[in-house]
Amino acid sequence: MRIRASRTIEKDEVLTLSYNSNWGSYGTVKRREIILDTGGFLCKCTRCVDPTELGTFMSSLKCSIASCAGYLVPALQTNGEEWRWECSFGGSSCPIANFGAGINSAIKTKPIEQELNGILSTLNFLSLTTAGDFVMKFISAYSGTPLHPNHWILQHASQTLVHVFGSQIKKLTPAQLDNFVNQCRHLLKMTKILNPGISLQSGKFLLILLSLKLFLI
Ligand SMILES: [Zn+2]
Ligand SMILES: [Zn+2]
Repeated sequence: MRIRASRTIEKDEVLTLSYNSNWGSYGTVKRREIILDTGGFLCKCTRCVDPTELGTFMSSLKCSIASCAGYLVPALQTNGEEWRWECSFGGSSCPIANFGAGINSAIKTKPIEQELNGILSTLNFLSLTTAGDFVMKFISAYSGTPLHPNHWILQHASQTLVHVFGSQIKKLTPAQLDNFVNQCRHLLKMTKILNPGISLQSGKFLLILLSLKLFLI
Protein backbone atom coordinates (compact mmCIF):
# COMPACT_ATOMS: atom_id res chain seq x y z
CA MET A 1 0.00 0.00 0.00
CA ARG A 2 1.25 3.46 -0.86
CA ILE A 3 0.02 6.58 0.96
CA ARG A 4 0.56 9.95 -0.64
CA ALA A 5 0.16 13.31 1.13
CA SER A 6 -2.05 15.75 -0.74
CA ARG A 7 -0.44 18.74 0.98
CA THR A 8 2.71 19.64 2.92
CA ILE A 9 2.80 18.11 6.40
CA GLU A 10 4.46 20.14 9.15
CA LYS A 11 6.94 18.54 11.54
CA ASP A 12 5.10 16.86 14.49
CA GLU A 13 1.72 17.50 12.87
CA VAL A 14 -0.85 14.88 13.87
CA LEU A 15 -2.26 13.04 10.86
CA THR A 16 -6.03 12.66 10.85
CA LEU A 17 -8.58 11.40 8.40
CA SER A 18 -12.15 12.31 7.63
CA TYR A 19 -14.61 9.52 8.45
CA ASN A 20 -17.00 10.70 5.76
CA SER A 21 -16.25 13.49 3.29
CA ASN A 22 -19.96 14.42 3.02
CA TRP A 23 -20.08 15.39 6.70
CA GLY A 24 -17.69 18.24 5.99
CA SER A 25 -20.33 20.04 3.93
CA TYR A 26 -22.40 20.77 7.06
CA GLY A 27 -21.87 23.42 9.72
CA THR A 28 -20.49 22.46 13.12
CA VAL A 29 -23.77 22.04 15.04
CA LYS A 30 -25.35 19.75 12.44
CA ARG A 31 -22.06 18.03 11.55
CA ARG A 32 -21.35 17.10 15.16
CA GLU A 33 -24.91 15.81 15.52
CA ILE A 34 -24.46 13.58 12.47
CA ILE A 35 -21.04 12.40 13.68
CA LEU A 36 -22.50 11.60 17.11
CA ASP A 37 -25.49 9.74 15.63
CA THR A 38 -23.58 7.77 13.02
CA GLY A 39 -20.07 7.61 14.41
CA GLY A 40 -20.99 7.53 18.10
CA PHE A 41 -18.49 10.14 19.27
CA LEU A 42 -18.22 13.87 19.88
CA CYS A 43 -15.76 15.17 17.35
CA LYS A 44 -13.09 17.49 18.74
CA CYS A 45 -11.11 18.07 15.58
CA THR A 46 -9.57 21.50 14.87
CA ARG A 47 -12.57 22.62 12.85
CA CYS A 48 -15.20 21.37 15.32
CA VAL A 49 -13.67 23.18 18.28
CA ASP A 50 -13.16 26.44 16.36
CA PRO A 51 -16.41 28.50 16.57
CA THR A 52 -15.50 30.25 13.29
CA GLU A 53 -14.77 26.90 11.57
CA LEU A 54 -11.28 27.85 10.43
CA GLY A 55 -12.45 31.37 9.68
CA THR A 56 -15.15 30.27 7.22
CA PHE A 57 -18.14 31.14 9.48
CA MET A 58 -19.99 28.23 7.89
CA SER A 59 -22.51 28.00 10.76
CA SER A 60 -22.86 31.70 11.45
CA LEU A 61 -25.93 33.86 11.52
CA LYS A 62 -26.24 37.64 11.50
CA CYS A 63 -26.08 39.15 14.99
CA SER A 64 -29.60 39.96 16.16
CA ILE A 65 -28.54 43.48 17.21
CA ALA A 66 -29.48 45.60 14.20
CA SER A 67 -26.60 48.05 14.63
CA CYS A 68 -24.00 45.26 14.88
CA ALA A 69 -22.24 43.98 11.77
CA GLY A 70 -21.03 40.83 13.53
CA TYR A 71 -22.12 37.24 13.12
CA LEU A 72 -23.08 34.74 15.79
CA VAL A 73 -20.76 31.78 16.14
CA PRO A 74 -21.57 28.56 18.00
CA ALA A 75 -19.09 28.12 20.84
CA LEU A 76 -19.12 24.77 22.59
CA GLN A 77 -19.71 24.78 26.34
CA THR A 78 -17.16 23.20 28.61
CA ASN A 79 -19.43 20.16 29.03
CA GLY A 80 -18.77 19.55 25.32
CA GLU A 81 -22.45 19.12 24.51
CA GLU A 82 -24.26 22.47 24.61
CA TRP A 83 -23.82 25.41 22.29
CA ARG A 84 -23.58 29.00 23.33
CA TRP A 85 -24.02 31.51 20.52
CA GLU A 86 -21.67 34.43 20.69
CA CYS A 87 -21.29 37.52 18.53
CA SER A 88 -18.06 37.36 16.55
CA PHE A 89 -17.51 41.07 17.27
CA GLY A 90 -17.57 40.40 21.00
CA GLY A 91 -16.22 42.87 23.57
CA SER A 92 -17.54 46.39 23.40
CA SER A 93 -18.31 46.33 19.65
CA CYS A 94 -21.54 44.48 20.26
CA PRO A 95 -23.86 45.48 23.11
CA ILE A 96 -24.84 41.87 23.62
CA ALA A 97 -21.71 39.91 22.87
CA ASN A 98 -22.78 36.71 24.49
CA PHE A 99 -26.07 34.94 23.84
CA GLY A 100 -27.00 32.12 26.15
CA ALA A 101 -28.40 28.77 25.14
CA GLY A 102 -31.90 30.30 25.31
CA ILE A 103 -31.43 32.03 21.98
CA ASN A 104 -30.81 28.73 20.21
CA SER A 105 -34.49 28.21 19.48
CA ALA A 106 -34.75 31.66 17.87
CA ILE A 107 -31.93 31.13 15.42
CA LYS A 108 -32.70 27.67 14.19
CA THR A 109 -32.15 27.44 10.47
CA LYS A 110 -34.41 24.45 9.88
CA PRO A 111 -37.08 26.41 7.89
CA ILE A 112 -34.43 27.78 5.50
CA GLU A 113 -32.93 24.31 5.11
CA GLN A 114 -36.42 22.91 4.40
CA GLU A 115 -37.06 25.66 1.86
CA LEU A 116 -33.88 24.71 -0.01
CA ASN A 117 -34.85 21.02 0.09
CA GLY A 118 -38.26 22.00 -1.33
CA ILE A 119 -36.58 23.92 -4.17
CA LEU A 120 -34.20 21.03 -4.87
CA SER A 121 -37.10 18.57 -5.13
CA THR A 122 -38.78 20.69 -7.85
CA LEU A 123 -35.69 21.34 -9.99
CA ASN A 124 -36.21 18.29 -12.19
CA PHE A 125 -39.56 19.66 -13.30
CA LEU A 126 -38.16 23.03 -14.40
CA SER A 127 -36.14 24.08 -17.40
CA LEU A 128 -32.45 24.30 -16.57
CA THR A 129 -32.26 28.10 -16.69
CA THR A 130 -35.43 28.53 -14.61
CA ALA A 131 -34.05 26.04 -12.08
CA GLY A 132 -30.77 27.97 -11.91
CA ASP A 133 -32.54 31.31 -11.46
CA PHE A 134 -34.64 29.77 -8.69
CA VAL A 135 -31.51 28.74 -6.77
CA MET A 136 -29.84 32.11 -7.47
CA LYS A 137 -32.86 33.87 -5.96
CA PHE A 138 -32.68 31.64 -2.87
CA ILE A 139 -28.98 32.46 -2.37
CA SER A 140 -29.45 36.22 -2.68
CA ALA A 141 -32.49 36.14 -0.35
CA TYR A 142 -30.54 34.67 2.58
CA SER A 143 -26.89 35.57 1.94
CA GLY A 144 -25.63 38.08 4.50
CA THR A 145 -28.85 38.19 6.53
CA PRO A 146 -29.75 36.01 8.28
CA LEU A 147 -27.08 33.60 7.05
CA HIS A 148 -23.39 34.37 6.75
CA PRO A 149 -22.50 34.34 3.00
CA ASN A 150 -20.40 31.22 3.70
CA HIS A 151 -23.17 29.43 5.60
CA TRP A 152 -23.35 25.72 4.78
CA ILE A 153 -26.96 25.92 3.54
CA LEU A 154 -25.87 28.52 0.98
CA GLN A 155 -22.88 26.36 0.06
CA HIS A 156 -25.27 23.49 -0.68
CA ALA A 157 -27.32 25.87 -2.86
CA SER A 158 -24.14 27.03 -4.65
CA GLN A 159 -23.13 23.43 -5.35
CA THR A 160 -26.56 22.87 -6.92
CA LEU A 161 -26.27 26.05 -8.98
CA VAL A 162 -22.85 25.03 -10.29
CA HIS A 163 -24.25 21.61 -11.17
CA VAL A 164 -27.32 23.07 -12.96
CA PHE A 165 -25.50 25.85 -14.84
CA GLY A 166 -22.49 23.62 -15.57
CA SER A 167 -24.61 21.37 -17.76
CA GLN A 168 -25.64 24.21 -20.09
CA ILE A 169 -22.87 26.78 -20.17
CA LYS A 170 -23.53 27.80 -23.78
CA LYS A 171 -27.14 28.69 -23.04
CA LEU A 172 -26.43 30.96 -20.07
CA THR A 173 -27.16 34.69 -20.15
CA PRO A 174 -24.22 37.01 -19.27
CA ALA A 175 -25.70 37.52 -15.77
CA GLN A 176 -26.05 33.76 -15.20
CA LEU A 177 -22.53 33.19 -16.50
CA ASP A 178 -21.18 35.83 -14.12
CA ASN A 179 -22.98 34.21 -11.22
CA PHE A 180 -21.74 30.77 -12.26
CA VAL A 181 -18.10 31.94 -12.32
CA ASN A 182 -18.47 33.68 -8.94
CA GLN A 183 -20.03 30.60 -7.33
CA CYS A 184 -17.24 28.36 -8.68
CA ARG A 185 -14.53 30.70 -7.40
CA HIS A 186 -16.23 30.96 -4.03
CA LEU A 187 -16.62 27.19 -3.66
CA LEU A 188 -12.99 26.69 -4.68
CA LYS A 189 -11.88 29.20 -2.02
CA MET A 190 -13.92 27.37 0.63
CA THR A 191 -12.55 23.99 -0.50
CA LYS A 192 -8.97 25.26 -0.18
CA ILE A 193 -9.61 26.15 3.49
CA LEU A 194 -11.69 23.13 4.53
CA ASN A 195 -10.00 20.50 2.41
CA PRO A 196 -6.53 21.86 1.63
CA GLY A 197 -4.20 20.22 -0.83
CA ILE A 198 -4.99 18.19 -3.89
CA SER A 199 -8.56 16.95 -3.83
CA LEU A 200 -11.20 15.74 -6.24
CA GLN A 201 -13.41 18.64 -5.23
CA SER A 202 -10.88 21.39 -5.90
CA GLY A 203 -9.95 19.63 -9.15
CA LYS A 204 -13.60 19.73 -10.21
CA PHE A 205 -13.88 23.50 -9.68
CA LEU A 206 -10.51 24.19 -11.33
CA LEU A 207 -11.60 22.18 -14.35
CA ILE A 208 -14.89 24.10 -14.62
CA LEU A 209 -13.08 27.45 -14.33
CA LEU A 210 -10.55 26.39 -16.97
CA SER A 211 -13.32 25.28 -19.36
CA LEU A 212 -15.08 28.59 -18.77
CA LYS A 213 -11.90 30.49 -19.57
CA LEU A 214 -11.59 28.58 -22.84
CA PHE A 215 -15.27 29.11 -23.57
CA LEU A 216 -15.11 32.82 -22.80
CA ILE A 217 -12.00 33.50 -24.93
ZN1 LIG B 1 -14.71 17.51 13.80
ZN1 LIG C 1 -23.24 41.59 17.63
